[in-house]
Amino acid sequence: MSSHPPIQDLADRLARAQAATRAHEVDALLVSPGPDLRYLTGYDAIPLERLTCLVVPAEGEPSIVVPFLEKPAAQASPIGDLGLEVLTWGETDDPYGLVASLLPSRGRAALDNHMWAEKVLRLRDAMPGVDQLLAGQVLRELRVRKTPDEVEALRRAGAAIDRVHARVHEWLRPGRTEAEVGKDIADAILAEGHVTVDFVIVASGPNGASPHHEVSDRVIEAGDPVVVDIGGTMPDGYCSDETRTYSVGEPPAEFAEYYAVLLAAQQAACEHVRPGVSCESVDAAARQVIADAGYGEYFIHRTGHGIGLETHEEPYIVSGNTELLEPGMAFSIEPGIYLPGKHGARIEDIVVCGESSGERVNLRPRELVVL
Ligand code: ZN
Ligand code: ZN
Repeated sequence: MSSHPPIQDLADRLARAQAATRAHEVDALLVSPGPDLRYLTGYDAIPLERLTCLVVPAEGEPSIVVPFLEKPAAQASPIGDLGLEVLTWGETDDPYGLVASLLPSRGRAALDNHMWAEKVLRLRDAMPGVDQLLAGQVLRELRVRKTPDEVEALRRAGAAIDRVHARVHEWLRPGRTEAEVGKDIADAILAEGHVTVDFVIVASGPNGASPHHEVSDRVIEAGDPVVVDIGGTMPDGYCSDETRTYSVGEPPAEFAEYYAVLLAAQQAACEHVRPGVSCESVDAAARQVIADAGYGEYFIHRTGHGIGLETHEEPYIVSGNTELLEPGMAFSIEPGIYLPGKHGARIEDIVVCGESSGERVNLRPRELVVL
């Protein structure tokens, strides 16, 4: 089911990762199954208790350590075409010793940020003279700027989740529970081209005031605002994430008033995106509009998060992040206003920083949809 970039692109990524490893004065990258492994090799391996570990030394050829029974799967992945040496271990062998034998006995190894703690600690035991650090420090400079092909993948993911939002009106109506609506949405996320459903938030009425509410057995009532925040993963590994807020019948007047403020805030932040502006200034662009209208205390989270092979990755669009935007950075812009006990609203698009402005990959109308 999974697809991968051309082999030459993967080979380039491995070469750039190796160059970054040297630049960071690290002796080797150690990468277990997860987004970094997929980014570097196209191998969409399932994380298991048995150790699979890509070893990218600062000098010399990369190799991958895999359980013997996973060798066919590894070689069927781009690992085979990349020509990486595949080192297997049997059920009674010590894979940690095998990894250690590929590294100098003293130095620094960068471990992928999502490696399981039990593997981190066993690698530490196998290499007592090697200092461990996070590979995210080395790989972020590669992953944070999307290539044109990656931007295209995000556009495809954006279009797929747009098609789901276009159908929400079929399922959202009074008398149904959030869970029932959520089930229909989850089915549609798969039907529209994703391979996994990553999250489905259907937050009706007072539940809309909780940004990470998922679904419940609450029955949707006439006049309820409903926050629908949904996303999945496409066959190539890239993620979608889009929020629209609906109203089932005419909403309360108070809600309509702050929804207009939210719409203006989301627009202001999207228009602020260009190379050279800071991540925190994008957050401020949204927050200022909401604060000026008197709702500042009800916008209780950061404005956004990076997205790519993970739904949440760098860069984070948050106060305090002074990092400057560069072409290719992709992230959500998702301000919200949440009135505890009453209702809430959020509008979210994925935006890619281009050469002179931002490009939204989600194109569904953002005005309040009254069903
Ligand atoms: Zn979302
Ligand atoms: Zn999001």
